[in-house]
Amino acid sequence: MLLKDLQNIFHKELDTIYGKDEVDSFFYLCTEHYLNVPRIQLTLEPEFTIIKSETDTFFKTLEDLKQQKPIQYILGETEFYGLPFKVNDNVLIPRPETEELVDLIIKCHTERSRSAHENLKILDIGTGSGCIAISLAKNLPNAEVYALDISKEALKVAKQNAELNKVNINFIEASILDNTCHSALDAEFNFDVIVSNPPYVRNLEKQEIQPNVLDNEPHLALFVEDDNPLLFYKAITNFAIKKLNDKGNLYFEINQYLGEESKALLTDTEFENVELLKDLNGNDRMLKGKKL
Ligand code: GLN
Repeated sequence: MLLKDLQNIFHKELDTIYGKDEVDSFFYLCTEHYLNVPRIQLTLEPEFTIIKSETDTFFKTLEDLKQQKPIQYILGETEFYGLPFKVNDNVLIPRPETEELVDLIIKCHTERSRSAHENLKILDIGTGSGCIAISLAKNLPNAEVYALDISKEALKVAKQNAELNKVNINFIEASILDNTCHSALDAEFNFDVIVSNPPYVRNLEKQEIQPNVLDNEPHLALFVEDDNPLLFYKAITNFAIKKLNDKGNLYFEINQYLGEESKALLTDTEFENVELLKDLNGNDRMLKGKKL
Protein backbone atom coordinates (compact mmCIF):
# COMPACT_ATOMS: atom_id res chain seq x y z
CA MET A 1 0.00 0.00 0.00
CA LEU A 2 1.17 3.55 -0.66
CA LEU A 3 2.12 5.31 2.55
CA LYS A 4 0.42 8.48 1.35
CA ASP A 5 -2.88 6.60 0.84
CA LEU A 6 -2.60 5.37 4.39
CA GLN A 7 -2.03 8.93 5.55
CA ASN A 8 -5.23 10.00 3.79
CA ILE A 9 -7.14 7.24 5.59
CA PHE A 10 -5.75 8.47 8.94
CA HIS A 11 -7.00 11.97 8.13
CA LYS A 12 -10.40 10.76 6.98
CA GLU A 13 -10.95 8.71 10.11
CA LEU A 14 -9.31 10.89 12.76
CA ASP A 15 -9.42 14.58 11.79
CA THR A 16 -12.85 15.10 13.37
CA ILE A 17 -11.56 13.75 16.69
CA TYR A 18 -8.10 15.31 16.85
CA GLY A 19 -7.76 17.97 14.11
CA LYS A 20 -5.54 17.76 11.03
CA ASP A 21 -2.24 18.88 12.58
CA GLU A 22 -2.36 16.44 15.46
CA VAL A 23 -3.25 13.59 13.08
CA ASP A 24 -0.22 14.50 10.95
CA SER A 25 1.97 14.44 14.03
CA PHE A 26 0.57 10.99 15.06
CA PHE A 27 1.13 9.68 11.56
CA TYR A 28 4.76 10.81 11.42
CA LEU A 29 5.44 9.42 14.90
CA CYS A 30 4.16 6.09 13.55
CA THR A 31 6.26 6.18 10.37
CA GLU A 32 9.32 6.89 12.48
CA HIS A 33 8.50 4.27 15.08
CA TYR A 34 7.26 1.40 12.87
CA LEU A 35 9.18 2.01 9.65
CA ASN A 36 12.14 4.09 10.78
CA VAL A 37 11.16 6.51 8.05
CA PRO A 38 11.45 10.27 8.75
CA ARG A 39 8.59 12.53 7.67
CA ILE A 40 10.65 14.15 4.89
CA GLN A 41 10.71 10.76 3.13
CA LEU A 42 7.05 11.07 2.22
CA THR A 43 7.73 14.28 0.34
CA LEU A 44 10.89 12.97 -1.27
CA GLU A 45 9.38 9.66 -2.26
CA PRO A 46 5.61 10.02 -2.86
CA GLU A 47 5.39 6.43 -4.10
CA PHE A 48 6.79 5.00 -0.85
CA THR A 49 5.08 1.65 -0.41
CA ILE A 50 4.66 -0.56 2.66
CA ILE A 51 4.08 -4.28 2.96
CA LYS A 52 0.99 -6.05 4.34
CA SER A 53 2.27 -6.64 7.89
CA GLU A 54 3.22 -2.97 8.19
CA THR A 55 -0.18 -1.89 6.87
CA ASP A 56 -1.83 -4.09 9.50
CA THR A 57 0.16 -2.42 12.26
CA PHE A 58 -0.96 1.02 11.06
CA PHE A 59 -4.61 -0.09 10.95
CA LYS A 60 -4.37 -1.46 14.49
CA THR A 61 -2.94 1.89 15.61
CA LEU A 62 -5.72 3.71 13.78
CA GLU A 63 -8.29 1.70 15.76
CA ASP A 64 -6.54 2.49 19.06
CA LEU A 65 -6.42 6.18 18.19
CA LYS A 66 -10.13 6.14 17.38
CA GLN A 67 -10.69 4.77 20.90
CA GLN A 68 -8.69 7.80 22.19
CA LYS A 69 -5.84 5.68 23.46
CA PRO A 70 -2.83 7.98 23.93
CA ILE A 71 -0.24 7.64 21.18
CA GLN A 72 2.51 7.26 23.82
CA TYR A 73 0.84 4.09 25.17
CA ILE A 74 0.21 2.76 21.65
CA LEU A 75 3.86 3.16 20.68
CA GLY A 76 5.04 2.27 24.19
CA GLU A 77 7.45 5.16 24.30
CA THR A 78 7.77 8.91 24.58
CA GLU A 79 10.35 11.61 25.10
CA PHE A 80 10.97 13.60 28.28
CA TYR A 81 13.65 16.24 28.74
CA GLY A 82 15.21 15.07 25.45
CA LEU A 83 15.51 11.47 26.67
CA PRO A 84 13.64 8.34 25.56
CA PHE A 85 11.20 6.74 28.02
CA LYS A 86 9.18 3.52 27.79
CA VAL A 87 5.62 3.92 29.04
CA ASN A 88 2.61 1.69 29.59
CA ASP A 89 -0.66 2.16 31.40
CA ASN A 90 0.95 1.52 34.80
CA VAL A 91 2.67 4.91 34.63
CA LEU A 92 1.56 8.43 33.84
CA ILE A 93 2.68 9.82 30.52
CA PRO A 94 5.35 12.39 31.45
CA ARG A 95 4.04 15.96 31.13
CA PRO A 96 5.78 19.12 29.89
CA GLU A 97 5.10 20.79 33.28
CA THR A 98 7.25 18.13 34.89
CA GLU A 99 10.07 18.95 32.45
CA GLU A 100 9.92 22.47 33.85
CA LEU A 101 10.30 21.12 37.38
CA VAL A 102 13.30 19.02 36.34
CA ASP A 103 14.82 22.01 34.59
CA LEU A 104 14.44 24.12 37.74
CA ILE A 105 16.19 21.49 39.86
CA ILE A 106 19.03 21.05 37.36
CA LYS A 107 19.56 24.84 37.20
CA CYS A 108 19.61 25.14 40.99
CA HIS A 109 21.98 22.25 41.60
CA THR A 110 24.42 21.94 38.70
CA GLU A 111 27.11 24.06 40.32
CA ARG A 112 26.80 22.43 43.73
CA SER A 113 26.75 18.99 42.11
CA ARG A 114 29.97 19.71 40.20
CA SER A 115 31.89 21.09 43.14
CA ALA A 116 30.55 18.88 45.91
CA HIS A 117 33.01 16.66 47.71
CA GLU A 118 30.32 14.14 48.26
CA ASN A 119 27.61 12.95 45.90
CA LEU A 120 24.45 15.02 45.81
CA LYS A 121 21.83 12.67 47.26
CA ILE A 122 18.44 12.96 45.60
CA LEU A 123 15.18 11.18 46.36
CA ASP A 124 12.19 11.13 43.98
CA ILE A 125 8.96 10.08 45.69
CA GLY A 126 6.32 8.46 43.43
CA THR A 127 8.66 8.03 40.51
CA GLY A 128 6.25 6.38 38.03
CA SER A 129 8.09 6.02 34.71
CA GLY A 130 11.20 7.35 36.47
CA CYS A 131 11.22 10.47 34.31
CA ILE A 132 12.23 12.89 37.09
CA ALA A 133 14.83 10.63 38.74
CA ILE A 134 16.42 9.58 35.45
CA SER A 135 16.63 12.99 33.85
CA LEU A 136 18.20 14.37 37.06
CA ALA A 137 20.70 11.49 37.19
CA LYS A 138 21.55 12.08 33.55
CA ASN A 139 22.06 15.83 33.91
CA LEU A 140 23.54 16.34 37.37
CA PRO A 141 27.11 15.16 37.64
CA ASN A 142 27.77 13.28 40.88
CA ALA A 143 24.12 12.78 41.71
CA GLU A 144 23.25 9.68 43.68
CA VAL A 145 19.59 9.13 42.95
CA TYR A 146 16.97 7.15 44.86
CA ALA A 147 13.46 6.65 43.51
CA LEU A 148 10.47 5.29 45.34
CA ASP A 149 7.08 4.05 44.21
CA ILE A 150 4.27 2.01 45.71
CA SER A 151 3.58 0.27 42.39
CA LYS A 152 5.65 -2.78 41.47
CA GLU A 153 4.48 -2.44 37.88
CA ALA A 154 5.55 1.19 37.70
CA LEU A 155 8.96 0.29 39.14
CA LYS A 156 9.41 -2.29 36.37
CA VAL A 157 8.95 0.45 33.79
CA ALA A 158 11.23 2.84 35.69
CA LYS A 159 13.99 0.20 35.88
CA GLN A 160 13.80 -0.37 32.13
CA ASN A 161 14.07 3.37 31.61
CA ALA A 162 17.12 3.64 33.84
CA GLU A 163 18.79 0.95 31.74
CA LEU A 164 17.69 2.54 28.50
CA ASN A 165 19.24 5.84 29.59
CA LYS A 166 22.29 4.20 31.16
CA VAL A 167 21.94 5.66 34.63
CA ASN A 168 22.17 4.01 37.99
CA ILE A 169 19.14 4.60 40.23
CA ASN A 170 18.37 2.97 43.57
CA PHE A 171 14.74 1.90 43.31
CA ILE A 172 12.61 1.29 46.39
CA GLU A 173 9.14 -0.24 46.55
CA ALA A 174 7.36 1.55 49.38
CA SER A 175 4.55 3.92 50.24
CA ILE A 176 5.13 7.41 51.59
CA LEU A 177 1.83 7.11 53.46
CA ASP A 178 2.95 4.39 55.85
CA ASN A 179 6.17 3.42 57.54
CA THR A 180 7.33 1.02 54.77
CA CYS A 181 8.99 4.10 53.43
CA HIS A 182 10.67 5.00 56.71
CA SER A 183 12.02 1.50 57.18
CA ALA A 184 13.19 1.26 53.56
CA LEU A 185 15.03 4.55 53.86
CA ASP A 186 16.19 4.31 57.43
CA ALA A 187 19.76 4.58 56.21
CA GLU A 188 22.55 6.52 57.86
CA PHE A 189 22.36 9.35 55.41
CA ASN A 190 19.94 12.18 54.64
CA PHE A 191 19.13 13.71 51.28
CA ASP A 192 20.18 17.00 49.71
CA VAL A 193 17.16 17.11 47.43
CA ILE A 194 13.73 15.54 47.76
CA VAL A 195 11.36 15.89 44.82
CA SER A 196 7.86 14.65 44.16
CA ASN A 197 5.04 14.87 41.64
CA PRO A 198 2.44 12.98 43.69
CA PRO A 199 -1.24 12.45 42.82
CA TYR A 200 -2.98 15.81 43.13
CA VAL A 201 -6.11 15.93 40.96
CA ARG A 202 -9.27 16.14 43.08
CA ASN A 203 -12.28 14.04 42.12
CA LEU A 204 -14.18 17.30 41.74
CA GLU A 205 -11.77 18.26 38.94
CA LYS A 206 -12.54 15.08 36.99
CA GLN A 207 -14.79 16.91 34.57
CA GLU A 208 -11.79 19.02 33.48
CA ILE A 209 -9.74 15.94 32.65
CA GLN A 210 -9.66 14.83 29.02
CA PRO A 211 -11.34 11.45 28.35
CA ASN A 212 -8.11 10.05 26.89
CA VAL A 213 -6.42 10.73 30.27
CA LEU A 214 -9.36 9.57 32.38
CA ASP A 215 -9.86 6.30 30.50
CA ASN A 216 -6.24 5.31 30.08
CA GLU A 217 -3.87 6.71 32.69
CA PRO A 218 -3.47 5.13 36.14
CA HIS A 219 -5.88 6.74 38.61
CA LEU A 220 -3.55 5.72 41.44
CA ALA A 221 -1.06 8.28 40.12
CA LEU A 222 -3.59 11.04 39.47
CA PHE A 223 -6.43 11.33 41.94
CA VAL A 224 -6.91 12.32 45.55
CA GLU A 225 -10.00 12.69 47.70
CA ASP A 226 -11.70 16.09 47.67
CA ASP A 227 -11.61 16.35 51.47
CA ASN A 228 -7.88 15.72 51.85
CA PRO A 229 -6.21 16.70 48.58
CA LEU A 230 -2.82 17.48 50.11
CA LEU A 231 -2.34 14.19 51.93
CA PHE A 232 0.74 13.26 49.91
CA TYR A 233 2.19 16.75 50.32
CA LYS A 234 1.72 16.59 54.09
CA ALA A 235 3.34 13.14 54.35
CA ILE A 236 6.24 14.13 52.10
CA THR A 237 6.82 17.41 53.94
CA ASN A 238 6.95 15.58 57.29
CA PHE A 239 9.28 13.00 55.81
CA ALA A 240 11.48 15.75 54.34
CA ILE A 241 11.74 17.51 57.72
CA LYS A 242 13.39 14.35 59.03
CA LYS A 243 15.29 13.18 56.00
CA LEU A 244 16.60 16.36 54.37
CA ASN A 245 20.00 17.68 55.30
CA ASP A 246 20.06 21.20 56.73
CA LYS A 247 19.72 23.60 53.77
CA GLY A 248 18.49 20.67 51.68
CA ASN A 249 15.80 21.44 49.11
CA LEU A 250 12.29 20.14 48.68
CA TYR A 251 10.60 20.43 45.27
CA PHE A 252 6.99 19.66 44.40
CA GLU A 253 4.83 19.68 41.33
CA ILE A 254 1.47 20.93 42.59
CA ASN A 255 -2.20 21.31 41.76
CA GLN A 256 -2.61 24.76 40.19
CA TYR A 257 -5.72 25.46 42.30
CA LEU A 258 -4.00 24.66 45.59
CA GLY A 259 -0.92 26.87 45.32
CA GLU A 260 -1.32 28.86 48.52
CA GLU A 261 -2.41 25.87 50.64
CA SER A 262 0.54 23.85 49.38
CA LYS A 263 2.93 26.71 50.03
CA ALA A 264 1.61 27.08 53.59
CA LEU A 265 2.66 23.50 54.35
CA LEU A 266 6.27 24.61 53.92
CA THR A 267 6.12 28.14 55.31
CA ASP A 268 4.30 26.87 58.43
CA THR A 269 7.01 24.31 59.14
CA GLU A 270 10.77 24.13 58.92
CA PHE A 271 11.40 25.67 55.51
CA GLU A 272 12.70 29.02 54.29
CA ASN A 273 13.02 30.67 50.86
CA VAL A 274 9.70 29.08 49.93
CA GLU A 275 8.76 29.92 46.34
CA LEU A 276 5.64 29.16 44.36
CA LEU A 277 6.44 29.12 40.64
CA LYS A 278 4.26 29.10 37.53
CA ASP A 279 4.46 26.76 34.55
CA LEU A 280 4.58 27.92 30.91
CA ASN A 281 0.78 28.19 30.90
CA GLY A 282 0.91 30.67 33.77
CA ASN A 283 -0.51 28.25 36.36
CA ASP A 284 0.92 27.75 39.86
CA ARG A 285 2.76 24.48 39.31
CA MET A 286 6.03 24.25 41.24
CA LEU A 287 6.90 24.72 44.85
CA LYS A 288 10.37 24.95 46.26
CA GLY A 289 11.66 25.33 49.81
CA LYS A 290 14.92 25.09 51.71
CA LYS A 291 15.05 23.28 55.01
CA LEU A 292 16.09 25.52 57.88
N1 GLN B 1 -0.56 17.05 35.62
C1 GLN B 1 -1.28 15.82 35.60
C2 GLN B 1 -2.62 15.99 34.90
O1 GLN B 1 -3.20 17.04 34.95
C3 GLN B 1 -1.50 15.31 37.01
C4 GLN B 1 -0.29 14.78 37.61
C5 GLN B 1 -0.46 14.38 39.04
O2 GLN B 1 -1.55 14.15 39.57
N2 GLN B 1 0.63 14.33 39.70
O3 GLN B 1 -3.10 15.08 34.28
